[in-house]
Amino acid sequence: MKLKDLGEFNFIDRITPGCNAGDPSHVVQGIGDDAAITTHAEGVQLVTTDLLIERVHFIRGTISPRQLGYKSLAVNLSDIAAMGGTPHDAYVSIAIPPEVPVEELDAIYDGMKDLARASDVNLLGGDTTSSRQDLCINIVVIGSAPHDEVLLRSGARVGDRIVVTGTLGDSAGGLAILLSDPDIPADVAAALLRAHYEPEMYLEEARLFAASGVVHAAIDLSDGLASDLRHICQKSGVGAVVDVASIPTSSELRILCGTTGADPVQLALAGGEDYRLLVTIDPVGFDGLRRGIARATGRELYDVGTIVSEPGIRLQAPGGGLTPLSISGWDHFTSTTTEPEQEDDAS
Ligand code: ADP
Ligand code: MG
Repeated sequence: MKLKDLGEFNFIDRITPGCNAGDPSHVVQGIGDDAAITTHAEGVQLVTTDLLIERVHFIRGTISPRQLGYKSLAVNLSDIAAMGGTPHDAYVSIAIPPEVPVEELDAIYDGMKDLARASDVNLLGGDTTSSRQDLCINIVVIGSAPHDEVLLRSGARVGDRIVVTGTLGDSAGGLAILLSDPDIPADVAAALLRAHYEPEMYLEEARLFAASGVVHAAIDLSDGLASDLRHICQKSGVGAVVDVASIPTSSELRILCGTTGADPVQLALAGGEDYRLLVTIDPVGFDGLRRGIARATGRELYDVGTIVSEPGIRLQAPGGGLTPLSISGWDHFTSTTTEPEQEDDAS
């Protein structure tokens, strides 16, 4: 069925069930009036938004609609996590080209609702419009944090450990699989594609980091370690030394690189969309926090380096030499390797 046969208002009625997926206690009015009504959460309010455009951020027919819904919400939840906050509510605006089947839109919303339920987030409204050509999804997420616990990019201190919440480069590995279809085992490809399409969220870690008092700065890894660590260093007026041997990479990424000849460290540094959290932690509190997080979440923290006073990022090679890091990660306006064009050419 096409949207023109259903109409805008029937579409809204159709996607509404399941949107109240989180804590109802602060919601007075969700979808169904001219504006949502919520009561204020304690502490400071966090607001973030991300826009995903077909052929720029995703290729329809490559990512499944369910994964597209998941990822559209995930990138926003990751930004709230990077502030040390808890997400509460999301608002979804969608521009739909005429040929998109309603069933595909249902699946996009199913993906969003899955993650919303898992993250205790309500979908409280949005806007629906037609688009001439490309599918566009914009989500706004509102969250909160105690005012004295918000984590900023600017808080890193000399001596802090530089810590990430998971392996790096897997999403870039997934993208490489889409672009070149290398000859690797199906389960390896599936794991890397999942990292690209359904990045894990670190909402529990985010709150534990923020409440610990020993995490000084945080960012989520959307553009790659090189680029995102640079943001922390610039905002904090510090530099960093990254220990190359400590950068966590998955066995799947290493298998892929063994076949393609790519360098896993390069993908870990420059590959975007991993959505792990990158934090700097007081060295004295680090071990206790690491154990506490392992107990609470069953997940690990990975220590990849040290915040130093000398500006810039330097790589500590396994042999001991220090080299300045030149790779900067993904930039929408300056990057020359445009993933969508390449994917288009391939299809
Ligand atoms: P208005 O014309 O007054 O802006 P709409 O008809 O656009 O109202 O929206 C009606 C209700 O449906 C509102 O609560 C709005 O937030 C919600 N809504 C509209 N589009 C979406 C969407 N794509 N996803 C979720 N909620 C939506
Ligand atoms: Mg109105």
